[in-house]
Amino acid sequence: MRIDIVTIFPSIFQGPFSESMIKRALEQGVVEINLVDLRLFAAGKHRQVDDSPYGGGCGMVFKPEPLFAAVEHLKSGAEGASSRVILLSPQGRIFNQPLARELSRESHLILICGRYEGVDERVRQALVDDEISIGDYILTGGELAAAVITDAVVRLIPGFLPEQSVEEESFSASLLEYPQYTRPPEYRGMAVPEVLLSGNHAAIAAWRRRKSLERTLQRRPDLLKRARLSREEWEYLRQFKPELAAALDRGSEKE
Ligand code: SAM
Repeated sequence: MRIDIVTIFPSIFQGPFSESMIKRALEQGVVEINLVDLRLFAAGKHRQVDDSPYGGGCGMVFKPEPLFAAVEHLKSGAEGASSRVILLSPQGRIFNQPLARELSRESHLILICGRYEGVDERVRQALVDDEISIGDYILTGGELAAAVITDAVVRLIPGFLPEQSVEEESFSASLLEYPQYTRPPEYRGMAVPEVLLSGNHAAIAAWRRRKSLERTLQRRPDLLKRARLSREEWEYLRQFKPELAAALDRGSEKE
């Protein structure tokens, strides 16, 4: 996979991309990440990428020409691979694990980081395939959002991490992950559940599944609408929140 990030502040990415998982993925050639300085595609001595908004108002807006030039250049260098162009934007669809998985199967992503008041509307109209937001709040620029998306996507690139480790994580099956423990077996009077010390793999898997269901019900019941549960699992959940019976029934009908 190749990820091109179009930004006026390429150095912001030095920290997040030079450690841990992304560093490993880069070293192993699982992903190629190019930080593309938008200013290199701007005309004139001052390489101006922004201008004031028509109609007045505060702040500056990214001009269309440098963005079109950058994206067209990056697409032409993609050697026939299909490119998906994404604008980071608080007005986009909200990023989540299913979307991360979808993007991890692409061969070429171009992420455009806005700044100031955002980008000229014609970029939205004719240059980008998607707009993605990482949450309902305003960041100063799209760079941190691009780093978040890159991190979540790269670890899902098929074959990079063991399938089991990503499958069991929160959100993967629309469930939150079960509680995790490590040594010591007892700490300040809090004991690790005995089943985890038993060595009985079937019992451990069953306990983890139950805890994952319980935790999702307690903290993110909205996720259960998309989870694939057996009839027994719906019944199991019903005992904790009888008032959710109607919603759970609807889920079990979909099975
Ligand atoms: N004036 C814009 C608005 O109200 O929609 C906000 C512009 S924001 C200060 C500057 C840039 O940061 C945006 O163009 C976008 O690229 C990025 N950004 C801000 N919040 C974001 C979010 N929640 N998700 C993704 N990108 C975001």
